[in-house]
Formats: sequence, structure tokens, C-alpha cells
Amino acid sequence: MTSANKKLLVLAGDGIGPEVMAETLRVAEWMGRRRAVRFDVREDLVGGAALDKHHVPLTDATMKAAMDADAVLLGAVGGPKWDKLPFAQKPERGLLRLRKEMDLFANLRPAVVFDALVDASSLKPEVINGLDLLIVRELTGGMYFGEPRGIENIAGGGRKGTNTHTYTDAEIRRLARVGFELARLRGNKVCSVEKANVMEAGVLWREEVTKLHAAEFADVQLSHMYADNCAMQLIRNPRQFDVIVTDNLFGDMLSDEAAMMTGSLGMLPSASLGARDAATGRRHALYEPVHGSAPDIAGLGQANPIANLLSFAMCLRYSFALEAEAELIERTAKAVLDRGLRTGDILQPGKTLVSTRAMGDAILKELEKLGG
Ligand code: NAD
Repeated sequence: MTSANKKLLVLAGDGIGPEVMAETLRVAEWMGRRRAVRFDVREDLVGGAALDKHHVPLTDATMKAAMDADAVLLGAVGGPKWDKLPFAQKPERGLLRLRKEMDLFANLRPAVVFDALVDASSLKPEVINGLDLLIVRELTGGMYFGEPRGIENIAGGGRKGTNTHTYTDAEIRRLARVGFELARLRGNKVCSVEKANVMEAGVLWREEVTKLHAAEFADVQLSHMYADNCAMQLIRNPRQFDVIVTDNLFGDMLSDEAAMMTGSLGMLPSASLGARDAATGRRHALYEPVHGSAPDIAGLGQANPIANLLSFAMCLRYSFALEAEAELIERTAKAVLDRGLRTGDILQPGKTLVSTRAMGDAILKELEKLGG
């Protein structure tokens, strides 16, 4: 890939989305100017912003641009202005359409504890100091999509609710493959999480992960854990984990549990990846902060831009193999926090409250110092 063809579709969205994205775009521009890493950036609308202009939360043209891009960067969607719309027209449908049509089956949620924020966690510093784990959650199958599903009347009275937890061997393998590949870029350890003790889908999960490991990833250290034990181990000793691969339902819960160890929503990035194209090596990818559009602080210049910026760092690492630049951004965020600068969400006594823009300014200054 040459430095000229990194096609980035930027969908800032609603609420604080455009505010935090503006700071990330300044960093992207800095990368072009100072590190010769150039992006072909196209900006477009999603969510409420697209509804206001085009009467749909995502136009077909934007969808096509997302399919053609090397990566999509998204801010946040939604807000009270659009809350009363029918479900099918809500801003969130724009994001769901992107995830579905790009077939983003692997959701990556890192849980990293910055030294400067160690006290913001509900866990003891000695338990979470230096924590750096990655949860890879299956996003398009399992309990949330399995058939049959529904609520029915039972003959003779009463009602029954049904959901089906189902996975094919191919679905398990493609997710596990992502986990193993990512582990090779990190601590080289995968923990596969299911409930093989009580669920057949869990037995298949364990068998398929084990087979794939033996066939292609024997150099990666693999362990298996039941999901209930994993929930406990995350609280007891989270640093034992490097990469956790798990299904949609367990991943939903475990990733929220892991995220909360790190303190604030304003610090949490995420990525969602599709399958790698065998011929080109490309994969669809969408990067977004975990937080929403934060209507309570939108427009006030109070949003923490770091979650969005760390999502961009993930984009550099996973879509463009720019490890040095990704690390540079992460070191920069750390340095700014170490200097005591804080947006309101992570403010602690004795630290300096700064605006979104001032945080962006400090990040650019630090980038010059560390990597210019
Ligand atoms: P939220 O994440 O927007 O906000 C929760 C709380 O965290 C708020 O008090 C907010 O001010 C604060 N917060 C969030 N991000 C912050 C940041 N970067 N800096 C400082 N403070 C921050 O969740 P919510 O209030 O439940 O939802 C608000 C809207 O966002 C809703 O319309 C919801 O549907 C939407 N939403 C969108 C996404 C997404 O785009 N992926 C995700 C979650 C919620």
C-alpha cells in the first residue's frame, strides 16, 4: 500500500461526534505533514445529521463510500431531537446498516489503564496497574440473531419466550482467526471463552478454536475458560489476559465489565472488523469510540476527545499496519494525562480542567515533542 491510497471515510455524526472528530482530524493532518502518512479523507453524514439533510440516517451513496474506503471513522450518532422517530428511522439505524452491510463480525474492545487514571477505576491500583487486554467479541451471530426466536402463547395458557444460541464452525473459526492474528501483534496469548460445560454451541466453539490453533496458530499460547469464571477472573486478576475471544452474548457483558475497570467512557476506543479479502488482503473496518453523542454536553467544548483519538490509533494499527504511528498516539495521550490535563469526565482533585480544543492543542504539542 502506498502512502497516497489510505482511503478514510469520516462520519462524525451527532452531538459531541463532530467535536471529538475535529481533534482527531487535526492529528490525521499532522501525520500527513510530519510523518508523511497521508490519508485521502472524505467526510460525510450519518445518524441525525443525515436525517436532517437527506431524511435517511445513511444514504446509499455514503454506504457505497464506506464499502470503498479502507477504513471508516465514526464519531457518535443519536440525540433527543430524533428520539421520537419510529425505530426504523432512528439515527442508530445508520450505524446498524454500516455494521450489517460491511459484515463487521469481530468487535474489538481494548481495556487499557493509563497510570494517570489508575485511581478512577473501581478496582485497587495493584490489581489494574498496567492493564492492557483486548476483547474480541463475535458481533453478528449467536443468541442475538439465532432462529427460532419470539414470544408465543402456550396451549392451555401462559406464554413462552425463545431465543436460540447458534454458531456454525465457519463463524467460530473466522472470529478465532481474528483473535489469533491480533494476539501475534500483542502478547501472543488467547483465552477462548464459552460455556462448553452446559452448552453444545460452547463444545463446538472449543473444538473449532482448538483445531484452528493446532493447524495455523500453534505459536500462540491458547487457553480456554468458562464465561462465568472469566467474569470473576476479570475482577480478580485482569492482567492474566492478553486477548479474549468470545461470542456475542458473553462478549457483550465481559467487554462492558472490562471497560469499566479503566474509569471513563471518554477514554474507550473500539473497532469492528470484517473478513479479510483473500485476493487483496483488505478488510472492511469501522473505528468508533464506545461512548455515544453525549447530548448533555454537546456543543459546550467539554467532551473528552481521547476515545475517538485512540480509535484512530486502532485504525492505524489494524487497517494500515502503522504500528509506530499508533503507538505514538497512545504515548501522546499518556503524556498529556501525565501532565495533569483533564476534561471534565476524568477530572480529579489537583488536576487542570481543559476544553476539548485545549486537549487537542496539548496532544498536537506533545506529538511534535515525541514524534515530530
Ligand atoms: P453517552 O455515551 O452519550 O453519554 C453517557 C454519559 O457519559 C453522559 O453523561 C456524557 O456526557 C458522558 N460522556 C460520554 N462520552 C463522553 C466524552 N467523550 N467526554 C466526556 N463525557 C462523555 O450515552 P447516553 O447518554 O446513553 O446516550 C446519548 C445518545 O447517544 C443517545 O441518543 C444514544 O442512543 C446515543 N448512543 C450512540 C452510540 C454510538 O453512536 N455508537 C453509543 C451509545 C449511545
